[in-house]
Amino acid sequence: MKTSTFRIVPLPTEVAEEARHLVEAGAADHAVIKVDSATGFPCRHCLRWAQPGERVILFPYASIPAGHPYSETGPIFVHAEPCERYSGTREYPADFRNGRAFRAYDADYNMIDAEIVNGREPEAVIEKLLQNPKTEFVDARSLTRGCFTFRILRA
Ligand SMILES: [Zn+2]
Repeated sequence: MKTSTFRIVPLPTEVAEEARHLVEAGAADHAVIKVDSATGFPCRHCLRWAQPGERVILFPYASIPAGHPYSETGPIFVHAEPCERYSGTREYPADFRNGRAFRAYDADYNMIDAEIVNGREPEAVIEKLLQNPKTEFVDARSLTRGCFTFRILRA
C-alpha cells in the first residue's frame, strides 16, 4: 500500500476520560451499556468494536461544534474501562472498513460532499474527497445509524 495521504483522528483521550467521570457522577445523559453484539458498539477511542461482555458508555458528542449551520451533536460509545487510544493513525481502522459513510467538510464546518464506503476501498474514497482543495476534514459515520465514528485529516 502506498503512503497514506490522510491521518486518522480518534476521539481525544480527555473526552473519553470525561465521559467515564461523568457516568460515575450519575450524569443523566451518560449511560453504561453492556455490549451484547460483536459489531454494534464501536469505541471511538481505541477504534475497535467493543466485545460482548464489555461495558461501554453512551453519551452525546458534538462532532461539529455549536454555532454553525451544520452543527451536530450525537450519540457515541467509548469503552467504560480505560482503553488505549488508536495509534495507527496512518492506517484506516480495520474494524470499520465497511458500514461507514464519509462526510467532507470545509474549514467553516460546512458539509461539501459525502460518499458511502460499502464495497469500496475506504482509502480510495478518502483520497477522492481530499482531492477537493476545499475539504478540510472528513468524518466517518455509521452508514445505518449515522453516528460519528472518527475524523480524518490530511496527512
Ligand atoms: Zn476503547
